[in-house]
Amino acid sequence: MSAASVKAAAQVSVGNDFYDVEAIRADFPAMSLLINGRPLVFLDSGASAQKPNVVLERMDRAYRSEYANVHRGAYRLSELATENYENARKTVAKFMNAASPDEIVFTRNATASVNLVAHSFGRAFMKAGDEVVISHMEHHANIVPWQLLRDILGIVIKVAPIDDDGNFLLDEFAKLLGPRTKLVAITHCSNVLGTITPIKEIARLAHQAGAKVLFDGAQGIVHAGIDVRDVDCDFYVFTGHKLYGPTGIGVLYGKKDLMNALPPYQGGGDMIEIVTFEKTTYRETPARFEAGTPPIVEAIGLAAAIDYVTGIGLDRIARHELTLRDYAMEQLGAIDGLTIIGRPREKGPIVSFTLDGAHPHDIATIIDSRGVAVRAGHHCAQPLMERCNVAATARASFGMYNRLEDVDALVDALKTVKDIFG
Ligand SMILES: *Cc1c(COP(=O)(O)O)cnc(C)c1O
Repeated sequence: MSAASVKAAAQVSVGNDFYDVEAIRADFPAMSLLINGRPLVFLDSGASAQKPNVVLERMDRAYRSEYANVHRGAYRLSELATENYENARKTVAKFMNAASPDEIVFTRNATASVNLVAHSFGRAFMKAGDEVVISHMEHHANIVPWQLLRDILGIVIKVAPIDDDGNFLLDEFAKLLGPRTKLVAITHCSNVLGTITPIKEIARLAHQAGAKVLFDGAQGIVHAGIDVRDVDCDFYVFTGHKLYGPTGIGVLYGKKDLMNALPPYQGGGDMIEIVTFEKTTYRETPARFEAGTPPIVEAIGLAAAIDYVTGIGLDRIARHELTLRDYAMEQLGAIDGLTIIGRPREKGPIVSFTLDGAHPHDIATIIDSRGVAVRAGHHCAQPLMERCNVAATARASFGMYNRLEDVDALVDALKTVKDIFG
């Protein structure tokens, strides 16, 4: 599509189904920030998204007038905090279409959720020589926990390849599965290439081989949503702060029977039934995996973010983001010397690129002086950088509050970089 036709398509979609990006921007305090004297153009939602007022206000209220520890006090304030915390679990369960809120464990972030599975599932179901299959485009959060497990148990990590455009190769993946495959752990959406992986087919193939499957949904749930029952995954992890919620809160979805078959990861208060010095018995999931005081207000904030996103409609947000992606691919692709890294068939609104003669860090620093915020570096995916033959990239990632003008601002700012580096 030409630039003009992308803009025209955006206007047509506005005609049919008005996506009021200006009203959405007004809900986010950060969208009216001035950076270096210029309006912020925030293109780093892939690293962490900005927060709408409803999240900030909800958390403020939870701290000011609804705060106590949960699950303990037989007094009104603690009951209220417990109710809010458990309602947050229900909100997350509904958002993912989980069969029950019991399948939602609150953690610190996506990283903590993967580590929990690596430790508990690994200890229960894996031994030396058993295999985990990951992909070449995993975030370090879905590589290193398996390597730690390899060091402890002697498991084998197999890596499913991608093609040069960044497509997940389903047939090659299938060839890696075998009787020793115990777990498949793959990203739902690459944080570098934007690739959306065929999770339903991956889950089916994994199950056919007798393996369990985990998806890293840190990006995927934001841009594509997830129906864990339709996909039939065993585990799905995500992180609150990329879904317009607070930091310090992550989610591990896990099928109930499977979760109850796993040993606890961490021990402490709240996760036990009876403790004696000889023997301790553990509660069922999710309590089993939530040792100690949980991230109470963060969970409540995450639920407020989910309510906000679902109120607008995740589908509508995704359509808006894809318009931004198409326009960015078109406009950036037209810049002489700029290479877009990752052109998969299914791609979320994440556009990585390099520019001849300019290091990605220099690009990010120079365009920051114009108020444009992009990420530069290896994006916690060093093996993928190597696969793409680059040391680093610059990355523009879009969120629900971005508009076509943000792409124009990025392109303009990149012209400054070209002027400096010739
Ligand atoms: C951000 C990200 C993670 C890690 O999220 P944390 O909040 O840092 O735990 C994992 N995987 C992908 C694909 C990500 O983008």
